[in-house]
Formats: sequence, C-alpha cells, structure tokens
Amino acid sequence: MTCYSQDYREARNRLLAAADAAGGWTHEALDHPQAGADGAPLYMDVLWRGPQDAGRVLTISSGVHGVEGFCGSALQLQFVQDAPDLPPDTALMLVHAVNPYGFSHLRRVNEDNVDLNRNFIDFAAGAPANEAYAAIDALLNPEELPDGALAAIAAELDRMRAQSDYLTMMKAVSGGQYAFPRGVQYGGAGPSWSRRAVEELWARRLAGRRVVVQIDLHSGLGESGVGMLMMAAGDDEPHKALTAQWFGPMFVTPRPRSAADTILGGYMNGAMETQLAGVRVVPMTLEYGTEPGEAVLGAMIEDNWLVHHGDLAGERGRAIKARLLAAFYPADPAWREAVLARGRQVFAQALSGLAAPDLEERLTR
Ligand SMILES: [Zn+2]
Repeated sequence: MTCYSQDYREARNRLLAAADAAGGWTHEALDHPQAGADGAPLYMDVLWRGPQDAGRVLTISSGVHGVEGFCGSALQLQFVQDAPDLPPDTALMLVHAVNPYGFSHLRRVNEDNVDLNRNFIDFAAGAPANEAYAAIDALLNPEELPDGALAAIAAELDRMRAQSDYLTMMKAVSGGQYAFPRGVQYGGAGPSWSRRAVEELWARRLAGRRVVVQIDLHSGLGESGVGMLMMAAGDDEPHKALTAQWFGPMFVTPRPRSAADTILGGYMNGAMETQLAGVRVVPMTLEYGTEPGEAVLGAMIEDNWLVHHGDLAGERGRAIKARLLAAFYPADPAWREAVLARGRQVFAQALSGLAAPDLEERLTR
C-alpha cells in the first residue's frame, strides 16, 4: 500500500496507526491553537523509539513548510513500517508536521504567513533588513493576478538576474524578509508557535545527549525526483568530513562570516545547533526536487495572492491549490517511488553512521 496520503489528517492518522502496529514507539501530541481545514484539531506529533536515555538520537522532521509535509510524512511512514534495527544506545525521534496548519490548509507558510525556515532568528537583536526584497515586494505580491501575470513576473525576475549577480538575487527573492507580513518569504515578527514548540521539545528531549543527527525533510528545490542532502558547515568542522563518508556527495554551504554575509538565515536546523550547545549536532536537510524553480516560485506567488486577495472556495482558488500541490507533492508515481527509495537509503546510511563506536571522537574537533 502506498505511503502517500491525501491530506494532513490521513497522513497523521496513518503514521500514528503504523507506530502503534509496529510497537515500541511512544507518542506525544503538541496541540496547535488553530483548527485544520477539516475543522478538527491540529497537532505536531512526536514519536520516540529506543532507550529514553539514549546518548545518540536520530531525529527526522517533516512539514516545516506545511504542504511539503506530504512528501516528508510518507518518508516517515515508510521508516516506521520498515522498523529498522537500532544501534546500541541510539533512539529515534520523529517530528511529524512541524507546521500542521500549513500542511492541513495547503500552504507552505504557517497560520501567520510565516516561512518557518526564516523564523528562527534572534528577534531581540532586531530582524535583518532585506532592501533588495523591498524593491521587488510589489512585483512578487500584486493585488491583481490576471492570466499571464506569473509569466510576466518570471520574465521581469529573469531580466533582473541578467543585470545582477546570483547571490544578490537569491537573497532578494528567497533570503527572507521581515517587513511585509502579507508578502512571500515573510519571516515573522517573533517566534512562531511551531518554533516555540520545537525549541521546548529540543530542551526537554535532546539536551544532554551526546550526538543528535537531524534530517529535516523538504520538497520543491532541485532536480525532479532527486533527494539532495544539504547542510551548513565550515571546512574544518568534523561533521562535514564524517557525513561525506556516510552519504557521499552533499550540498554543503559555508558558514556566513557575518549577518551581512548571510544569504539565507533563520533556519530551524541552525537554531537546533545553537540551542543544543554541548551536543554534537549533525543538522541536515533532505530536499527533493519537484518542478523547475520558476514554476515553484510561481505557485508560491499565486497561493499568496489567493490567500490575501482571492477566493479560496472558488474554482480559481481550487485550481491554484492544485498547482501548489503539484509543485510540492507531484502525483507522478515514478517521482513518488524515487522519493521513498532515496529516503530509505539516507535513513539507513544515517543509522549505520550512528553505529560507529568512536562516533563522539570523530565528531569532536
Ligand atoms: Zn521546504
């Protein structure tokens, strides 16, 4: 039977039922303050298997970007069904639907239009400015979106890219912004519900462990059907060399030297590293490509327009949601098969890496 579900509710129910059937899992549900698209309660669910006091933990999270949870949830369900053997002193922690509102309501952002992977910044220090975004906010978030408007936006971005450099445009379009609450790539005005919930969870369940290997599941970026492991690491950091042995080639971005040097900030994985001081954290993202970048950005722009200016229940609203799903959760059976096969490979490689007796030494500078 397929691991893929039709909506948040089915995905959640199936994962919890599979954990029950497999045995050995403990479950806690964190209550979200808002209701789902079906009117029923929303939860971030936490499943734990293995010793409660394990020194090493593999954590796998899904749905930071709401609608991307369809892909991540299927990977978690397959993993529970596979019931892999655990190395000694090792536990699993699955976090299902970090952004349950976006998963249920088919949005990449949360209940406050916030991209959670831009929300984990130090708000007390003041949100970073993104002047280049400010200059294109009106382009990306038009009040009217007639036929052909998305193609015109894409053409204008292409024209700007031709006159700019890659990183400047990347920061402008995708770097996150904190000044336009109804715009795309909004990072929020303070810590979101999801951020507060996961940070409390980390403090309670992960602080004091020796090693945490984290895999955050995403879809929408890269070559279609390919699951690319990504992380931030400096050349001299031991987890860079170690994960290259575990997984082979990864997409490793260097650490920014300063706030001004930061292209993409506010990531959950970065916050996990900071918060779990003293724990050797290996923070990775497994990102599956779906459609070309232009189509994915177009789907996000169109969905944002729909929520702020359109009619969710109308025919056009349903068509826009269908295009959003296609951009983050392709229906193609070959795509879905490739996603599961790659996930099974990566999780097995992570568990095999966690079995190394000298892991702590190898992760210490
Ligand atoms: Zn994502």
